[in-house]
Amino acid sequence: MGKITIEKERCKGCGLCVLNCPKKILALSETETNRNGYFVVVMTDEKSCIGCANCGVMCPDSVITVER
Ligand code: SF4
Ligand code: SF4
Repeated sequence: MGKITIEKERCKGCGLCVLNCPKKILALSETETNRNGYFVVVMTDEKSCIGCANCGVMCPDSVITVER
């Protein structure tokens, strides 16, 4: 079980974390943008996170912090 924190205002919406989550529980929002105008990444199923940290490692801007 893991827990992630997303600093949405720093997300560029590149989708790398979405592609590399083994549980497929990250998605780019179709409605929510940050102040820079990017569609931000959102967690779709918190209970399924295994804390593998792939998302945090893949993000080029260190937007995601993983706790486990
Ligand atoms: S820690 Fe792993 S399972 Fe959890 S959201 Fe990130 S990539 Fe997905
Ligand atoms: S990898 Fe980082 S910048 Fe790209 S969508 Fe995920 S959180 Fe946002």
